[in-house]
Amino acid sequence: MTGKTAASGEATVPVRYGEAEKPERPLGRSIWRGLCCTCPACGEGKLYGKFLKPVDVCAACGEDLHHQRSDDLPPYLVIFLIGHVTVGGFMMTDMVWQLSIWTHLAIWTPITIATALLSMQPIKGGVIGLQWALRMHGFGDEDESFDPGRGGPIE
Ligand SMILES: [Zn+2]
Repeated sequence: MTGKTAASGEATVPVRYGEAEKPERPLGRSIWRGLCCTCPACGEGKLYGKFLKPVDVCAACGEDLHHQRSDDLPPYLVIFLIGHVTVGGFMMTDMVWQLSIWTHLAIWTPITIATALLSMQPIKGGVIGLQWALRMHGFGDEDESFDPGRGGPIE
């Protein structure tokens, strides 16, 4: 966004701190595109080739996506969210109706499994979008053959 100052008439440029030469990667938009299971860069290419296996390169824009290292965060988030929903649902239904524990198991076990399977893909996509926006794990175009912890090449 550019504008002109009223006093001097000079064009103003928004101040950006650090890495001003790199294109902006809005965090919310990137996470949202990941949640929609699309490429965080363009929002059009598919993020996944298989169920939880992201594509190496976006078919639409060519963005390298093999850098993603979502690791344990998506399952942790799924357990955290689905656990609260199903345990809360179990406790609320238990307060309203007196059901046997087997009935509760018959109700809540399939719901837990189904919601976990359905939410795993978008949540992992959101984590990949987060990593892409923050330029983590090679998404920032840094040299991946160099290990900064060791000060030498990755073995
Ligand atoms: Zn793309």
